[in-house]
Amino acid sequence: MPGQPQNSREGSRFRDSDWCDWRWQAQHAVTDLQGLDDALTLNESERVGAARAMAAGLPISVTPYYLALCDPLDPDCPIRRQCIPRLEEAIAIRGDLRDPLGEQAHEVAPHLIQRYPDRVLLIATDRCGVYCRFCTRSRLVGDGGGARSMAALEPALAWIEAHPEVHDVIVSGGDPCLMSTGRIARLLRRIREIEHVDYVRLATRTPVTLPQRITDELCTAIRESHERTWVMTHFNHPKELSEEARTACARLADAGLPIMNQTVLLRGVNDDPQTLEALFRGLVGSRVRPYYLLQMDPVSGTGHLRTPLRRGIELMAFLQGRLSGIALPKLIVDTPGGLGKVPIGPNYIRSTRDGVTVLETFRGDLVQYYDPAEN
Ligand SMILES: *Cc1c(COP(=O)(O)O)cnc(C)c1O
Repeated sequence: MPGQPQNSREGSRFRDSDWCDWRWQAQHAVTDLQGLDDALTLNESERVGAARAMAAGLPISVTPYYLALCDPLDPDCPIRRQCIPRLEEAIAIRGDLRDPLGEQAHEVAPHLIQRYPDRVLLIATDRCGVYCRFCTRSRLVGDGGGARSMAALEPALAWIEAHPEVHDVIVSGGDPCLMSTGRIARLLRRIREIEHVDYVRLATRTPVTLPQRITDELCTAIRESHERTWVMTHFNHPKELSEEARTACARLADAGLPIMNQTVLLRGVNDDPQTLEALFRGLVGSRVRPYYLLQMDPVSGTGHLRTPLRRGIELMAFLQGRLSGIALPKLIVDTPGGLGKVPIGPNYIRSTRDGVTVLETFRGDLVQYYDPAEN
């Protein structure tokens, strides 16, 4: 079928109708060393990493679709680095935390995290189509609980109901789109009943890892259950903008659902200006707004994927002025301990004196800006 990566077809035994069926994709996700070794030529680091992941730590899951985006011969493939465990996951480095955002301490009701006065984050499930090796919630995803029932989420919903200052509910996980359409619709309708919640954000990586999930039926169900839903997705590399992924984004946008993207800055995946430029341009071309470029959280076992803070700032300085404003995300550090997100970036103010500020443009011109006289 069109757009399907070549390496997935060789020697395959599945039908095209299976490939396009999200449940088939989810059920056939590769979860062990043997499965990965059959699909890719693993190197020693990946083999050791996969064996270790199976025994302890963050489980393995890669959908056949996402596996087919991997270069079968190159361990440095940016898709492979995101989903195939490595030996380095066993290495602890300074600053590593199991729960880097202090979410356990900020849990105000079961499965509900509050860090800001006006918004909350609901963990609706622990399941994902693909377990990203850099996951900030590796401590809890894939622990076997699966989708939380409405009854299990009711204390969280009651808490939101009792807090009129909450205007924004982020439905996250795990990946809530791994839940059935009926379950997603019931949850959104329940949130819709809470009058002071102005809008919902549905945080899902399925457009990237399981684009078959974004069916017209799902889009319609989301729209009908809560018409003020924003979709927050998570593309990290231009290779992920396949024909299937672009179709998924088009379906969401055509259904009237705004789409925002959060990219995590990852060493050896997207920490160079050309990759980010291609990614952000491609996203806007798919009607997806690059929202945040996130400095990696210091999650245990991810030191090999992290960049120094200065790298993100350099990359933003390169992109500023060269990329449309609508394609340029904010660079964010989510502070360890869960004290909130901090925007960082190049400093464009060179000096301020006597009401005159000297600004530096993206070309390096210095321009004076005069403040109005103070009365
Ligand atoms: C990131 C996050 C938010 C949302 O932050 P925004 O800057 O509004 O996108 C809200 N709650 C929690 C717990 C978060 O981690």
